[in-house]
Amino acid sequence: MHMNSNDKNYTNLIDKYVTGKILVTRSSMPGYEEYCEEIRDIWDTHWLTNMGPKHKKLQEDLRVYLGAEKIDLLTNGHMALELTMQALGLTGEVITTPFTFASTTHAIVRNGLTPVFCDIDPESFTIDASKIEALITDKTSAIVPVHVYGNICNIEEIQRIADKHGLKVIYDAAHTFGESYKGAGIGSFGDASCFSFHATKVFNTIEGGAVCFKDETFGNAIYDLKNFGIHGPETVESVGANAKMNEFCAAMGICNLRHVDAEIEKRRLAVEHYHERLDGIKGVRLNKVGDDVKPNYAYLPAVFDPEVFGSDRDEVFAVLAKHNIFARKYFYPLTNTFDCFKGQFDPNETPEALRISKQILTLPLYADLTTEQVDLICDIIISCRK
Ligand SMILES: *Cc1c(COP(=O)(O)O)cnc(C)c1O
Repeated sequence: MHMNSNDKNYTNLIDKYVTGKILVTRSSMPGYEEYCEEIRDIWDTHWLTNMGPKHKKLQEDLRVYLGAEKIDLLTNGHMALELTMQALGLTGEVITTPFTFASTTHAIVRNGLTPVFCDIDPESFTIDASKIEALITDKTSAIVPVHVYGNICNIEEIQRIADKHGLKVIYDAAHTFGESYKGAGIGSFGDASCFSFHATKVFNTIEGGAVCFKDETFGNAIYDLKNFGIHGPETVESVGANAKMNEFCAAMGICNLRHVDAEIEKRRLAVEHYHERLDGIKGVRLNKVGDDVKPNYAYLPAVFDPEVFGSDRDEVFAVLAKHNIFARKYFYPLTNTFDCFKGQFDPNETPEALRISKQILTLPLYADLTTEQVDLICDIIISCRK
């Protein structure tokens, strides 16, 4: 069989990155034929982007799935956050947490706003709502909490504080696709909830994102920001950016949405097996799902207490890596310690977040992770005990 050099390089890459390794995640994909069938009519219409039929269908299906009043689709989760903050006209200071992905803090800073970091609750890893009010000043315009690992923030208390002080609430809901809280869809909270459909998330559109909201004026502002402020062939009403989801990504979403419930069920089985193996191990604490939450099993973080377990997080990470198992130090480092913010923030002001970021390891978790693989990972972790 003829193989050109490009094919060979690609094969080398697959060997390097995939074969024989267990990575922290593995993207969900529909069957090849199913995707081909879904994109077939794109060849008939030649409509590749700009809110075509795939975009429209996925948007409505996701609105229902997420329990949102209104929704708009975007190129990725980061642009959902960044443009949402811009559309709400935030000013001055925004209260958030440093225990998150770079995107949350970057979206605040790229809007010319000042992040004010609140500590986290070490049990749920989400913002400690009891510490928010002390951080409010006359410059504060919003709270940006993060539903970390699918753990839902203290929604009632955050809304009470926001209402009392006239603040906007924007949830970074990138980890909570498809969850519900006390029966209400995760897309129904705050002024806006921003989702990521990146390849590594529970539900993906390759790259993609969405914002769920209620207010029509906000919806118009988001639409203008994602499509250059264009209202007609000869009318441009505002200075927008470009953040439209294309038809191929929307088609991937349409396919993946058909299977997402089954994928979440497979994740649940893997998580249950992790719990069976590790719950009794002293010094290891696995994430616990809250009582009122319908979970999505997006991540399985484990907190290693070195005093009790004997080995620290970095040692466990290294031993797993030696066995070709790649967990992730997620979230580490805290965003308030990033090089790009050097000298601007003091991580000692968020001591719980700082401690957790040094003790947490997100273990491999995806729908096709087998019971045998979970056993292997747990055996290695248990062997690190001293
Ligand atoms: C993935 C993620 C984002 C960014 O989403 P992208 O689609 O990658 O831009 C933002 N916040 C959190 C918490 C995330 O996990």
